[in-house]
Amino acid sequence: MYIVQIASECAPVIKAGGLGDVVYGLSRELELRGNCVEIILPKYDCMRYDHIWALHDAYRDLWVPWYGGTIHCSVYCGWVHGRLCFFIEPHSGENFFNRGCYYGCNDDNMRFAFFSKAAMEFLLQSNKGPDIIHCHDWQTGLVPVMLYEMYKYHGMGNQRVCYTIHNFKHQGIGGVDLLWGTGLNRESYYFQYDKLRDNFNAFALNLMKGGIVYSNAVTTVSPNHAWEAHYTDISCGLGHTIHLNQDKFQGVLNGIDYDYWNPSVDRYIPYHYEKKDFEHKLYNKKALRKRLLLGESEKPIIAYIGRLDNQKGVHLVHHAMYYALNRGAQFVLLGSATEPGINAHFWHEKHHLNHNPDVHLEIGFNEELSHLIYAGADMIVVPSNYEPCGLTQIIGLKYGTVPIVRGVGGLVNTVFDRDYDQNHPPEERNGYVFYQTDYNALESAMDRAIGLWYVYPEEFRKLALQGMNCDYSWNNSGQGYIEIYENIRNK
Ligand code: ADP
Repeated sequence: MYIVQIASECAPVIKAGGLGDVVYGLSRELELRGNCVEIILPKYDCMRYDHIWALHDAYRDLWVPWYGGTIHCSVYCGWVHGRLCFFIEPHSGENFFNRGCYYGCNDDNMRFAFFSKAAMEFLLQSNKGPDIIHCHDWQTGLVPVMLYEMYKYHGMGNQRVCYTIHNFKHQGIGGVDLLWGTGLNRESYYFQYDKLRDNFNAFALNLMKGGIVYSNAVTTVSPNHAWEAHYTDISCGLGHTIHLNQDKFQGVLNGIDYDYWNPSVDRYIPYHYEKKDFEHKLYNKKALRKRLLLGESEKPIIAYIGRLDNQKGVHLVHHAMYYALNRGAQFVLLGSATEPGINAHFWHEKHHLNHNPDVHLEIGFNEELSHLIYAGADMIVVPSNYEPCGLTQIIGLKYGTVPIVRGVGGLVNTVFDRDYDQNHPPEERNGYVFYQTDYNALESAMDRAIGLWYVYPEEFRKLALQGMNCDYSWNNSGQGYIEIYENIRNK
């Protein structure tokens, strides 16, 4: 099959979170299975150019219709760790992708509406004719809309779309200018509830809703989150739309790329290890302490890696840090916040704890350091309010770093409580799970984990090794996507 992914991220060249990992990892798996995969991305000024090989211009003059005129674009092509990527660079006064950031601009919905339009125009003008277009999140929600309302009539009648929702919180809400810009026009047609009209704001269009309504298959990133999206308010107003489209909606658990996230080959950690020489993890712990100027002592290290925002349960992250210190553990945090209040809060904490040898807060995004933390920490805490899939616990498991998680979304599908899980035999359990959002719940799970580390170190080691046994590679999920593609392709 010939598959084109259209996305706003692809790790490690463009990565703000799990979306980037998924686009890269899934593409690789699909290729390993003998499919042809290409990835279309925006050409941001701030992406990691050092991860692109042989970047060259592939299509110099792409003229993209926009607001009745056209915008001149260049399309560059290069390999990102073996994946063939096309980067679209518009030449216009808006400087859509030269903003020094991936997201967070006031006109984000127009930036990505333009990207979706340009990607479709690129597919059309270059005559690519993929079997499947796989697009992701609100940024590309207009792709299937444009395919079925416009491009289908210009020779793209054979393409089918799979749309994956990584996070329901951000849906891409915009006004009528999205229609005028992209040339979809026909305001009264699209402002229908069975099309793009937002379910709660009658004056707004919802790009994610467009993606759900028009795509041939819709997925989210774990089976449990698919259930939550259908039956709880986690889908932020799209529950009814999901309900109406339930026949084409399902959850496929994300995987991770074990050639990249693997302590036995990881290029960013000083000491490689696997199950049989698990004690080498200790050298990474020492290296982590040295790197972050933590005190050398007989204490476990608990880590948090992730965005610092309300989704991730920042109040519990903050509490986990102090509870770890009180309970005789060290704590390492690597995170970045886009919300100024949260950012200021964690900077304040960093200054406040600056001289404490048992804690380090690294505020910002640092891919290389994240690997050392996964390898050097003993436990990783994921106290999310909601979590569509969550990759940090999956990566933690591979590195023998025991996860302590809240039982929501994909965390339920991947972490099984050592003491209480009834659905898995003891030898398949791999971490600690709590359910409520209060401090007591978090403390009880952390207490059990820290207690085991101190009192029964052999049992703790066994638990860590059981985590390393889990297979959350793309192997299984890749098959899930192939089946979806085959299914929609024949329709
Ligand atoms: P989300 O997609 O909601 O941000 P996930 O758990 O699905 O969360 O994916 C997070 C990914 O981003 C993981 O690969 C994690 O290691 C990485 N990550 C998150 N924050 C940082 C950071 N500050 N520095 C480096 N990597 C980070």
